[in-house]
Amino acid sequence: METKSFQDLIKEVHDKGICQECGGCVSFCSSAEYNIIGIKDQYSPPEYINKDKCLECGICYYICPQTHILDDELNKTYKFSDYISMPLGNYDNIYSCQATDKELLEYGTDGGVVNSIINFLIENKDIDGAVVSKTDAPFSREATFADSKYDLLKASGVKLDITPQLDEIQKFCTYTHSIPKLNHYKFKKLAVVGTPCQLYTIACMKDLGVTPSQNVNICLGLFCYENFFFEKSQIEKFEKDFNIRFSDLSRINIKEDVIFTLKDQGTGEKTIHIPFNHLEGYMRVACNACADFTNIYSDISFGGLGSPEKYTTVIPRTEKGKTVFKRALDAGVIRKIDISDDKKQQMVNLITQFSKSKVNRKEQFMKNLS
Ligand SMILES: Cc1cc2nc3c(=O)[nH]c(=O)nc-3n(C[C@H](O)[C@H](O)[C@H](O)COP(=O)(O)OP(=O)(O)OC[C@H]3O[C@@H](n4cnc5c(N)ncnc54)[C@H](O)[C@@H]3O)c2cc1C
Ligand code: SF4
Ligand code: SF4
Ligand code: SF4
Repeated sequence: METKSFQDLIKEVHDKGICQECGGCVSFCSSAEYNIIGIKDQYSPPEYINKDKCLECGICYYICPQTHILDDELNKTYKFSDYISMPLGNYDNIYSCQATDKELLEYGTDGGVVNSIINFLIENKDIDGAVVSKTDAPFSREATFADSKYDLLKASGVKLDITPQLDEIQKFCTYTHSIPKLNHYKFKKLAVVGTPCQLYTIACMKDLGVTPSQNVNICLGLFCYENFFFEKSQIEKFEKDFNIRFSDLSRINIKEDVIFTLKDQGTGEKTIHIPFNHLEGYMRVACNACADFTNIYSDISFGGLGSPEKYTTVIPRTEKGKTVFKRALDAGVIRKIDISDDKKQQMVNLITQFSKSKVNRKEQFMKNLS
């Protein structure tokens, strides 16, 4: 069989406009030390830098979330068959949880559960730290390494440090290139927080047994319906369309719709709900080509959908995920609410609805592409 290379990714993925910019190919390139490929513009697909040094080994092609070469292998490992019979992936139980630490809860996106689990693992020396994402401004995120509660809080957007001025940033994106960060910390035991496309590449690398995936101790997956991308002209359009000033935004939450929290202007915080379909023009195009909503190849998945305000929906998946979740509960760093069977079914139905909608969106998009 002909071995594929990065050149094939350009043809089959980039040229079709479906590169999810997860950064997996760059991070896990077999010859990363020769800078063969790289991300020149953080809002565009990776490019060749030293093409002549490419080994044409095909690793980048195998792990790309848009080639799906290793899907069968991963499905065996993560006990997943298909989205029709398993729209939420493989799981035994689903929970609504919340941080017990006041600050982690207050500054958490939803219930502050992801950061509480990371903090717990750091304090117990299970991991040296985590690759997370920090907020510089609304719609602007950057991958970062956190090895303390202080770092985790700082990354969540709390102004513990000086952050760049809003008007210095020309482009805003909710997406972050966390995977390339792995190479910087390859000698550490890591937790990685990521969207489904990012964690897919790590699952592939683990499956292939390629460095530095062995350092990833646990993958904490976020639900993800879509990511947003704003250029200057779109920012102006957004401000006009929704009568919201970017500089007034203090927080963005994603549940059944996108919830924008406006800064307190003296009359208290105000929230505005905008349905996903009203934000189509601001979505990263490649997100149309993505089917996984609940992060089926993670150890534990987390989302806001299905849970009450200030609670996180938690789906432990792998044996490791279930153990860590139980330890965090037993240690009292997170608490869960008792949910009746009826309520649980409603949660599952709602998440199923979003999962199926994402699968359908991809099918439609790919049909139009071909
Ligand atoms: C782009 C994006 C889209 C999402 N879409 C949905 C959705 O459609 N429906 C839904 O129910 N939930 C969605 N979520 C998940 C939800 O917003 C919360 O992250 C999740 O419920 C966990 O909340 P928490 O309070 O427990 O997490 P916290 O304790 O606040 O921790 C969140 C962690 O996620 C990290 N993080 C934040 N953004 C990113 C990013 N872009 N890439 C990698 N790591 C990041 C933070 O650094 C932090 O460590 C999305 C999240 C993101 C980042
Ligand atoms: S060396 Fe291998 S992994 Fe790196 S770009 Fe070339 S084909 Fe891809
Ligand atoms: S691995 Fe990620 S960044 Fe690389 S081509 Fe595929 S989708 Fe794009
Ligand atoms: S929808 Fe989410 S997981 Fe899918 S490509 Fe976009 S950012 Fe990645």
